[in-house]
Amino acid sequence: MPRFGMVIDTRKCVGCMDCVVACQTENDVPNGYCRDWITTEVRGDYPTLALEIRSERCNHCDNPPCVSCCPTGASHVEEFGKTVQVTKEKCIGCKACIASCPYGARYVHPKGYIDKCTFCDHRTREGLDPACVSVCPTHCMHFGDLDDPKSKVSELLRTEKYHTIMPEAGTKPRVFYLI
Ligand code: SF4
Ligand code: SF4
Ligand code: SF4
Repeated sequence: MPRFGMVIDTRKCVGCMDCVVACQTENDVPNGYCRDWITTEVRGDYPTLALEIRSERCNHCDNPPCVSCCPTGASHVEEFGKTVQVTKEKCIGCKACIASCPYGARYVHPKGYIDKCTFCDHRTREGLDPACVSVCPTHCMHFGDLDDPKSKVSELLRTEKYHTIMPEAGTKPRVFYLI
């Protein structure tokens, strides 16, 4: 079984938000909510400062506190892709997972359950890229199996410099940003 991850080249991201719009359309995300978003951050030390533009979402962490704290098993690691998913029928809306996620990746859906990025599980099971990856006009997003040394994501992580967001939180995030 694959262990999916995402590698995003921040040097190519122009912050156009096509990924955000594609996600909302593909996943029927209600108005006013989002599963992915754009963050900007000034990185580096003067005088070599750079503005990093990042497309962010759930990191599908290898050590997800949102799963271990869920009292009903609604938040779980899916066998296929080792992605972190929420079974909405099991979710009682207690918000423990929201409190535990350092990335603010989850929101309360108006229907009462918790929603977040699924890594487009419904698409990847069909062999397709996630919607956000497929529409990116600069092709800065890559998706694939981190456990396959021949995958593009593995190759990029072997050959390029990258960082993750808040690694100190100890969740072992699986969205990587090339710098
Ligand atoms: Fe859970 Fe947050 Fe990690 Fe996603 S980013 S797996 S919601 S802790
Ligand atoms: Fe689990 Fe739902 Fe509670 Fe989150 S809000 S911890 S998914 S039952
Ligand atoms: Fe949205 Fe799918 Fe991209 Fe996640 S992988 S941000 S659900 S389009």
